[in-house]
Amino acid sequence: MYQIIDGKKISQEIKDEMREKAAALKEQGTERCLAVIQVGADPASSVYVRNKKKACEYVGIRSLSYELPEETREEELLGIIGELNGREDVNGILVQLPLPAHINEDRVLLSIAPEKDVDGFHPVSVGNLSIGRPGFLSCTPAGVIQLLKRSGISIEGKECVVLGRSNIVGKPMAMLLLRENGTVTVCHSRTKNLKEVTKRADILVVAVGRPKMVDESYVKDGAVVVDVGIHRNEENKLCGDVDFDSVAPKTSYITPVPGGVGPMTIAMLMANCVEGLSD
Ligand code: NDP
Repeated sequence: MYQIIDGKKISQEIKDEMREKAAALKEQGTERCLAVIQVGADPASSVYVRNKKKACEYVGIRSLSYELPEETREEELLGIIGELNGREDVNGILVQLPLPAHINEDRVLLSIAPEKDVDGFHPVSVGNLSIGRPGFLSCTPAGVIQLLKRSGISIEGKECVVLGRSNIVGKPMAMLLLRENGTVTVCHSRTKNLKEVTKRADILVVAVGRPKMVDESYVKDGAVVVDVGIHRNEENKLCGDVDFDSVAPKTSYITPVPGGVGPMTIAMLMANCVEGLSD
């Protein structure tokens, strides 16, 4: 019988721990502050931004909100980030992606001071992760590690397969599993004999961006399966990259969608804001 990894419960635990830490810091005279910048009014981005602000309120982090119009020029945005970089009272800066097409995302992410890069997307943060120096960890993959650890699943020595190699999920996920002493394989659209590779996994993390692509034929008996994907199906219901109904009975542990990896991203953002650079 498989066990469900409860991301809702674990993310709540983390937010509660961060709330305690933020309160203790406040007592010592330090208040954490996150600046959230949104350009344009993309409805999905607005929901994410609102949820991030709500989480800040719960944890006790002050949040500064910049809601900029769609036509904001790149220089204006870079100017605001530059000012926030220099403010001592601001310790985290987050630019909600995607940005409008006329703004160069790379230039914007590069302009955030690495010591305030709470999303962990800056090349300095990515580099620090790769060579084992303290730095901010990308929130979604860091959340996956917490889901595994807090469910009592050991990573050391395990065959870990990551399906997907994006900069925000697949690659940092692989680095984090490696840091936890897993034996890591990364698969992507050019991988040959994909199912043979994924079937080797003791721990399979799926971030492929294709609704329900991974069915039971990709999974070894007793594997741990983590589904990072989020999609809305034809009935407007949420589903993941994994076909939960066919895969779950083969697993020892599995994350559901919703209620698995999803809530962890914001919890880890809160952890980055409160704890600062992790090592
Ligand atoms: P991307 O589209 O950036 O990356 C998808 C990866 O999957 C690529 O590396 C691609 O390979 C690979 N891939 C695509 N099709 C196949 C295939 N048929 N066989 C093998 N590999 C394939 O997605 P993201 O990493 O940004 O996101 C992945 C999923 O996670 C999405 O559903 C997204 O919505 C979700 N997500 C969830 C978050 C959360 O908070 N829970 C946060 C971020 C993302 P190649 O590189 O060769 O093109």
